[in-house]
Amino acid sequence: MSYIPIKRPKFSLQDRIYVVELAKGLWITLQHLVLSLLGKSRFKKDFNGKGIGVCMPFPEQRWDAHLPSYYRGAPALVRGEDDRERCVSCQLCEFICPARAIRVVPGSVDSSSPTPKQEKAPVEFEIDMLRCIYCGMCQEVCPEQAIFLSNQYLLTLTDRSKAVRTKEDLYRLGGTKKGLINKWNQYK
Ligand code: SF4
Ligand code: SF4
Repeated sequence: MSYIPIKRPKFSLQDRIYVVELAKGLWITLQHLVLSLLGKSRFKKDFNGKGIGVCMPFPEQRWDAHLPSYYRGAPALVRGEDDRERCVSCQLCEFICPARAIRVVPGSVDSSSPTPKQEKAPVEFEIDMLRCIYCGMCQEVCPEQAIFLSNQYLLTLTDRSKAVRTKEDLYRLGGTKKGLINKWNQYK
């Protein structure tokens, strides 16, 4: 059996005892503590916090407007500008998903469809949100730019069976995405 030897990086003494990294972390915590006690915490205004520190009354108040553009929340399916399902049910995302959270049932597309070149679309597409680890590998692998990690992070359930998001749920969450996919661009 062939194998590829991997060179492990050598750790210095400092790396091995990680006291410096520990001290750096504590220093940051201490800075936040002092700022908080002085009533000068970062984003104090945005939080509309009460008292000396900062306390956001979640869920009535949320931090959503401050989420960075690269925030990776729950995965969602998207439609194209022409309202076409971008997903062609190739099942690559299902295959790559490390948590085995995705289930795709492929189906064929009617030849009378405005995009007959697209031979397949999912009949069913489910993501079990109790399994999903928000890794983004489904987004990375998708050849059709059909699945993206949205900025939705809330998962409040009273019943475990409701954790499975159906195709309809996923399209509702993803909405429409602008931008061409080369395969469907008539000029390509
Ligand atoms: S984000 Fe990761 S774990 Fe979640 S469905 Fe996609 S590939 Fe699977
Ligand atoms: S979302 Fe993308 S990777 Fe997953 S089945 Fe659809 S086209 Fe394939």
